[in-house]
Amino acid sequence: MHHIQSVSIRTAVRLSLAATGLALCAAALGAQPARGRQAPPAAPAQPDFSQVQVRATHVQGNVYMLEGAGGNVTVQVGEQGVLVVDTQFAPMADKLLAEIRKLAGDKPIRFVIDTHGHPDHVGGNERMRRSGAAVFGGNVRNDDPRGEQGAVVIAHENVQFAMIKAEGTPQATPDANWPTETYTGDQYDLFFNDEAVQLLHQPSAHTDGDTMVFFRKSDVLSTGDVFVTTGYPFIDRANGGTIQGIVNALNRILDITVPRDKQEGGTMVIPGHGRICDEGDVVEYRDMITIIRDRIAAMAAKGMTLEQVKAARPTRDYDGRYGATSGFWTTDMFVEAVYAGVRDGAGAAK
Ligand SMILES: [Zn+2]
Repeated sequence: MHHIQSVSIRTAVRLSLAATGLALCAAALGAQPARGRQAPPAAPAQPDFSQVQVRATHVQGNVYMLEGAGGNVTVQVGEQGVLVVDTQFAPMADKLLAEIRKLAGDKPIRFVIDTHGHPDHVGGNERMRRSGAAVFGGNVRNDDPRGEQGAVVIAHENVQFAMIKAEGTPQATPDANWPTETYTGDQYDLFFNDEAVQLLHQPSAHTDGDTMVFFRKSDVLSTGDVFVTTGYPFIDRANGGTIQGIVNALNRILDITVPRDKQEGGTMVIPGHGRICDEGDVVEYRDMITIIRDRIAAMAAKGMTLEQVKAARPTRDYDGRYGATSGFWTTDMFVEAVYAGVRDGAGAAK
């Protein structure tokens, strides 16, 4: 069902959450680890934004990638205006807008799509929304109760739920950065700038609210953090991420991509972080993640404890390229998340 719903959902969710306020308070006070779940890792370190330059790369067709600080930003430009996927950290917004102006001139930002709700992907939502203007008519309307007629900000409904749950915690996202529209189910389609744009929900992968955005005519897929080239995938278990969901997402990317010739070119893939890829790059990454999952599943099946699995270094041959011993997502944390997933049966090899 391709159904989009307005932000009035917030009212309903807030009411239902109020009923479970005690449980939420308990979670906020740190009861989660007591239930055996790890506390969410700290967000990626924020750089000195004043030193960061934004770099734009034409990917293919109508689609560009902007790099600055935070997740990659995907920009689709055409006659009807601009569609932006992800908005990095808030202090980057003006620099990103300046770069978008170079690509699109005066054309307004019509849509902002959030691949998920992490602060390095949604921080500039408010600035982008306010600078833009909604398209009225067609299949999307903007009935933002704030009365603002800026760009429409779309995310999967689980992104909105997570933001509501995080209210009042250090992880809270300011209201102004929340989506103005959410979609339910597994897919939502737009037609914009003479191009079919498909929002594909990828369940329980990096988070429980991941969206990949496929530009069908330009033949570019923007994946969000279900695929990154900068390290092992961050599995945000506190927000519903699982190793099996990551493997499924990587396989879904490969279902969509078509190489032009000898595995080079064809569909281009913009990862959540890192460089532009083609199908061959994703195959390599998918194979690595699948191998690591299977190794850890085999170790868990033999009854090895987490400490024993870590000591056996199941990621050893990939650590040189993808491993990390410090920062917000270390190799140990990745191994722990995979171990938890396969132990729970969520990551059983198939
Ligand atoms: Zn993320």
